[in-house]
Amino acid sequence: MAEHAVVIAGGGPTGLMLAGELALAGVDVAIVERRASQDVSGSRAGGLHSRTIEVLDQRGIADRFLSQGQVAQVAGFAWIRLDISDFPTRHNYGLGLRQSHMERILAGWVDELAVPIYRGREVTGFEQDDTGVDVAVSDGLSLRAQYLVGCDGGRSLIRKAAGIDFPGWDPTASSLIAQVEMDQEPEWGLRRDAIGVHALSRLEDGPVRGVLVTEQHLGHTGEPTLRDLSEALIAVYGTDYGVHSPTSISRFTDMTRQAASYRDRRVLLAGDAAHVHPPVGGQGLQIGVQDAVNLGWKLAQVVKETSPESLLDTYHAERHPVAARVLRNTMAQTALLRSDELTEALRDTMSELLSMDEPRKRVAGMMSGLDIHYDLGAGHPLLGRRMPDLDLVTTSGPPRVFTLLHDARPVLLNLGEPGGFDITPWSDRVQLIDAEYVGVWELPVVGVVTAPAAVLIRPDGYVAWVGDRNQMGLQDALTTWVGPPAATVF
Ligand SMILES: Cc1cc2nc3c(=O)[nH]c(=O)nc-3n(C[C@H](O)[C@H](O)[C@H](O)COP(=O)(O)OP(=O)(O)OC[C@H]3O[C@@H](n4cnc5c(N)ncnc54)[C@H](O)[C@@H]3O)c2cc1C
Repeated sequence: MAEHAVVIAGGGPTGLMLAGELALAGVDVAIVERRASQDVSGSRAGGLHSRTIEVLDQRGIADRFLSQGQVAQVAGFAWIRLDISDFPTRHNYGLGLRQSHMERILAGWVDELAVPIYRGREVTGFEQDDTGVDVAVSDGLSLRAQYLVGCDGGRSLIRKAAGIDFPGWDPTASSLIAQVEMDQEPEWGLRRDAIGVHALSRLEDGPVRGVLVTEQHLGHTGEPTLRDLSEALIAVYGTDYGVHSPTSISRFTDMTRQAASYRDRRVLLAGDAAHVHPPVGGQGLQIGVQDAVNLGWKLAQVVKETSPESLLDTYHAERHPVAARVLRNTMAQTALLRSDELTEALRDTMSELLSMDEPRKRVAGMMSGLDIHYDLGAGHPLLGRRMPDLDLVTTSGPPRVFTLLHDARPVLLNLGEPGGFDITPWSDRVQLIDAEYVGVWELPVVGVVTAPAAVLIRPDGYVAWVGDRNQMGLQDALTTWVGPPAATVF
């Protein structure tokens, strides 16, 4: 039986990101992935929002994505465009890039970090005890791990086998998404009608067309066929435009559900395994990748026994509300996309509202992920929010804050008197950086905030402690987020 500290079921975007985070922290992690290669069948995510680009930038890999995609204003609410170019971030835009490319880039990174991937095999079950989890894998393979993370998508076997409830709302509509060729020139663009949204688009150069069409009825079973697609097109457009030669056809619904708990003892869930919702707004992959970045360093510290297991409880506490909010906003967007006259009137009102500065910023902050605020208690507005990527001045050069996070290690950034901090009991785990910053401190949505004298930045880029002239609360914050001081045994 092979042993790893952590086994991840599923090597989609969430599983790959989590594997990278754990490997950076020096944890022995392996992925079990059902697909024999990283090829993505069917159309899925079409890009990245600002906060996800920032998170990748924190690890020094954003350029790999930016160089392959198209930078654009992609944020929107129910397809009402939201411009974020005035947001205070280096990445005040989104990126158009297909999921298949994103997964290829992530898999390349994970490969550089030497994470083993058991490809073409699936997790078929597991048993957990007080010290670990026995993971059963197809082809008779079995693995032993301290922790098992289900990143195995919306139909997650891990979630079901752990007996974790998945409450929410049943689907109200079913859609087909396909890449095909067509004999006739179709009606390009978006169409909304009583049953839902439909869209026909040219895909890159060449004869392949993108089709999104809502089906007349729910409840189709089995894999979607060319005939299903033709029937759905005829029902909406009166013709199927001579559709043929599909490269992919897949079906998705607006089912909206969330795992009641992200953890059952030594088994955790992340990504679509923990939450499913309609794709409107393009948020699923983003929150999956960001689940992974929230969980990775915590799980690493628990596995390395520098933090107690209770640190893992903060994963559910922080990430469950983020996805719950996405579920709500996708439900609201789905309702706004209906095309009866009452909804049209509501949509006009919403469009007007979102053309005003304050509402646009509020909603764009939510859709881009830049407004995430973990509840770390009362205090300075930075507490629990993303650390801005400031241009610092230090004796060793001018680093950006995100550069300091490339190794996924916490940073205590001292912006006051150099040498004013002594964190010897944590010095093996925390980078202490004396620096100067002369610019304005401005957060998306929140606006300008008072300059702090020091900040403790977690490996995921969120601020865990904000200091003024005295260092009150720093030891507690270090103990909570980095672990007890050296020499403490728990
Ligand atoms: C039509 C459509 C459009 C979308 N558009 C967007 C968008 O624009 N933006 C966005 O952010 N999101 C979008 N999404 C959502 C996005 O695709 C998902 O949220 C994302 O893929 C979730 O990643 P994941 O790694 O959590 O799960 P998945 O991508 O589902 O990956 C799960 C992996 O686990 C593997 N697996 C499953 N079971 C097992 C098992 N038992 N053992 C081993 N391996 C297993 C699977 O093969 C798969 O590789 C869209 C989704 C759809 C359907």
